[in-house]
Amino acid sequence: MEDCLFCKIVRGEIPATKIHEDEDTLVFLDIHPAAPVHLLVVPKQHIGSLSEVDASHQQLLGKMLWLAPRLAASQGCTDGFRTIINTGRVGGQEVFHLHLHVIGGKDRLPAMV
Ligand code: C5P
Repeated sequence: MEDCLFCKIVRGEIPATKIHEDEDTLVFLDIHPAAPVHLLVVPKQHIGSLSEVDASHQQLLGKMLWLAPRLAASQGCTDGFRTIINTGRVGGQEVFHLHLHVIGGKDRLPAMV
């Protein structure tokens, strides 16, 4: 997707602080962190949101979740963290390229709605 912000980050056209990269995913620091640790796990292929996944994406989705505790631990979150996928306008999604937030680094994160 030519105009997609996260596709541009994946292609290296917009800078980001990369934490991890493999053939399927890119993980980088959120530019507006909600907590001391705030990573975004992004599939390299453009998928607009969780609503757009199909059966062919099951392995990729599993990998994104599998990465989360490993990346969190690599950033010092060995005692817990939060994962969030905002989906669609109602779900608070602002960037329409699927991404998994990994948030932590605080003694205790505030309760969610
Ligand atoms: O889930 P949602 O779409 O709301 O989250 C998008 C996230 O992308 C925000 O947390 C925002 O800070 C982050 N972002 C970023 N780098 C950009 C633009 C947005 O990390 N260049």
